[in-house]
Amino acid sequence: MFNTLFKQVTIVAFLSLSSVLSSTAQVADYGHKMVKKLASAKYKGRGYVKDGAKKASVMIAEEFEKHGLVPLNKGSWFQDFTLSVNTFPAALSVKLDHTKLKPGVDYLVGASSPSVKGTFKVLRITRTQLRNAGAAAKLTLNAKDTFLLLDNKVRAEESAEERAQIKENTERLQYDESLSFKGLLICTDEKLTWTTETFQSIRPVIIINKKDLRPENIHQLEIDVDAKLIAAYQPRNVVGMVKGTEVPDSTLVITAHYDHLGMMGKKVYFPGANDNASGTALMLSMAKYYGSHPGKYTMVFIAFSGEEIGLLGSQAFVEQPLIDLKKIKFLTNFDMAGTGEEGIRVVNGSIFRNRFDQLVQLNTRYQLLPKVDIRGEACNSDHCRFYQRGVPSFFIYTQGGIKAYHDVYDRAKTLPLTVFGNYFTLMQKFFDQI
Ligand SMILES: [Zn+2]
Repeated sequence: MFNTLFKQVTIVAFLSLSSVLSSTAQVADYGHKMVKKLASAKYKGRGYVKDGAKKASVMIAEEFEKHGLVPLNKGSWFQDFTLSVNTFPAALSVKLDHTKLKPGVDYLVGASSPSVKGTFKVLRITRTQLRNAGAAAKLTLNAKDTFLLLDNKVRAEESAEERAQIKENTERLQYDESLSFKGLLICTDEKLTWTTETFQSIRPVIIINKKDLRPENIHQLEIDVDAKLIAAYQPRNVVGMVKGTEVPDSTLVITAHYDHLGMMGKKVYFPGANDNASGTALMLSMAKYYGSHPGKYTMVFIAFSGEEIGLLGSQAFVEQPLIDLKKIKFLTNFDMAGTGEEGIRVVNGSIFRNRFDQLVQLNTRYQLLPKVDIRGEACNSDHCRFYQRGVPSFFIYTQGGIKAYHDVYDRAKTLPLTVFGNYFTLMQKFFDQI
């Protein structure tokens, strides 16, 4: 894809192109290095178990310092805030009829699950049994110390209404406190995708996707899950700036969340290479560049924590802003910057159409990315908290390539960073044009 793009560039442009290429390669190098570091076992998936995210925040602050940024919070790089979070820091084992399942590969623990330990009878139920209202209550009547196993493979003949009813019943099975049964196993053929929650719910849930598993043959569960709800954990954002040369009162803000899902049990961690070591690496590359090439406006760089659990780091920032939100000229949030076979997509592109058109024009002129796609508003990353308060903002992500997401496969080793250098160049030209 990119070779053919480069071939379109004329020989006249060759000299300047070759210097662009070498600096692009350097940017990509730094990007790879940062992604590898952030997604390594050292930072435990940048969650709350073993202070993974906090350890990563120290590394990010050190990079800011190296690049010549200035701390924004009364001499500190950090902005603390508080959240509650359900964690799985210790025991984790699931055996079905004496076959041990692999955590992260065969199953995930429902993010709001409480602790559970013991051997339990398993009672299989099907989606067909959940088609009617009230089915959840009926099915659990005589299941007091039993785990229900829901065979959750969606069948083609289900109507839309049936699917909605099944979904509602499944949610009741997971969360309804008036039902009295021990726990829920959900067997699915959909990709396992983890998340993180601020609360603990009434009963344990295990989501299983294992090819050779036959739900109808399973009768017994041996389980040990250690869950710990931390009522007041203190994560932190990392904030630095480079003072503007002409209009220091106005700011361009570049953000990326560095937190991810952390650990599930003692051994499994979610590396979050694409989500969002990659965006953090791009933000750090910008900090590196502008640290020695200050722009017209003051540039503020923010690495958010608490994104995965509900955009809580950016929420904390807008509630206690370290800069005047009204003086933000433009904010760009990078979340998922690690692929790019199909270019990038711009959330809020249709809202701030002139800025979007600028980006497209720059891309056409310099032939950097295969595509710059437009999208409307979406409250799916940290830009949202600023946008809700009237700050003009984009959230940009790369498209195409590896589909690993919120799972154990989102690793640095397999993340291509396909267009990283060119993506950087496009954004740098964009920021310089604002
Ligand atoms: Zn995420």
